[in-house]
Amino acid sequence: MKAAGTGHSFTAAAATDGLLLRPERLAGLRAIDRAAGTVTVGAGTTLRQLNETLSAHGLSLANMGDIMEQTASGAVSTGTHGTGRASASLSAQVRGLELVTADGSVLSCSADENPEVFAAARLGLGALGVLTALTFAVEPEFLLRAREEPMPLDRVTAEFDQLVAENEHFEFYWFPHTTSCVTKRNNRSAGPAAPPGRIGAFVEDELLSNGLFGALCAVGRAVPAAIPGIARIAGRALSARTYTDVPYKVFTSPRRVRFLEMEYALPREAAVPALRELWAAIERSRLRVAFPVEVRTAPADDIPLSTAYGRDTAYIAVHMYRSVPYQAYFRAAEQIMTSHGGRPHWGKLHSRDAGHLAAAYPKFEEFTALRDRLDPQRVFGNDYLRRVLGA
Ligand SMILES: Cc1cc2nc3c(=O)[nH]c(=O)nc-3n(C[C@H](O)[C@H](O)[C@H](O)COP(=O)(O)OP(=O)(O)OC[C@H]3O[C@@H](n4cnc5c(N)ncnc54)[C@H](O)[C@@H]3O)c2cc1C
Repeated sequence: MKAAGTGHSFTAAAATDGLLLRPERLAGLRAIDRAAGTVTVGAGTTLRQLNETLSAHGLSLANMGDIMEQTASGAVSTGTHGTGRASASLSAQVRGLELVTADGSVLSCSADENPEVFAAARLGLGALGVLTALTFAVEPEFLLRAREEPMPLDRVTAEFDQLVAENEHFEFYWFPHTTSCVTKRNNRSAGPAAPPGRIGAFVEDELLSNGLFGALCAVGRAVPAAIPGIARIAGRALSARTYTDVPYKVFTSPRRVRFLEMEYALPREAAVPALRELWAAIERSRLRVAFPVEVRTAPADDIPLSTAYGRDTAYIAVHMYRSVPYQAYFRAAEQIMTSHGGRPHWGKLHSRDAGHLAAAYPKFEEFTALRDRLDPQRVFGNDYLRRVLGA
């Protein structure tokens, strides 16, 4: 059997030909502990529900990814992350969890209770049991000032370390076939709140980022030779803007253009060299890539299967518009990323197997030993887990 979230993984992590457990009725607020700075929710709560509930109580997560459609359990189980200098993935923000294991036991887990299970199940790939509740670290709601700004690739790569060091949340998108990037810097602000105006938000988020971009991608799919020109338009279309809002509204934005994605976590210092190699690989190939490459960061953490385990990390994500052949591009990118010691996002496309991953994760065997103990019969097994964890 498999517990599923909302099916936002690009991998078949939640797929099963057995019993599929859906999350909808595992949702909702269970407890708020203001003294401890934690909130407990049903594991099937969506990140949208979680964030809106937190905001209604004047609370917030420290960091998150760029959409909020996923469930808390699904996001945590694959190590979903945003970008951060000091604040890490959603898994790293988990302070407690409740897990139903293969023999039907209900384990309460935290740093003090069942600490070994807690350590691993913060990013458990659904392999250790069914998460029924998650407790997250939260803090009083704050404001983030977002600065979005086009910047040439040369400048972003030359100043990458400085941009990461000077900002709480730095990320950028590079448009292949061009030297254009869009950077995003989010930093805490004393306020006042100044959300994007309704018209401005509609033009930037809907018309340009979704409507126009989707239309351009569709043209590119029909006429691949047009893609470099499209990338130049897309790279130039977004203008600089600044706004201040509550964190989840700054971190997330609507993503209506369908795509496929692969993302690798690299040692931070490998990000710029790997990006240059990707640039060269695209230039000398016949690849036509309309979708930008996204670069984010995370601090090192201590979660056995976290892509940021034990090292300051930079993430490089490649995307391809739906129904466009992506294999050659992703293969080329994957070769570069693995040559720099990259670890693939568990929820995004990749071709790695247990043999490779065991070498990439110092605590891989600890995780699989725990899995052997908690699920010896592989009640929660599926094809994906057989590939990435071994039998
Ligand atoms: C448009 C888009 C944007 C994205 N943005 C980001 C981003 O910014 N950052 C990032 O890191 N990722 C991102 N992702 C990837 C996404 O966050 C992950 O793939 C996430 O796992 C999806 O969550 P889900 O609820 O859909 O889980 P599913 O994909 O349904 O399941 C994922 C895994 O969680 C397990 N699982 C689910 N519920 C439980 C449970 N109760 N107990 C035990 N195991 C469980 C499943 O078995 C499976 O192994 C994005 C994906 C899309 C499609």
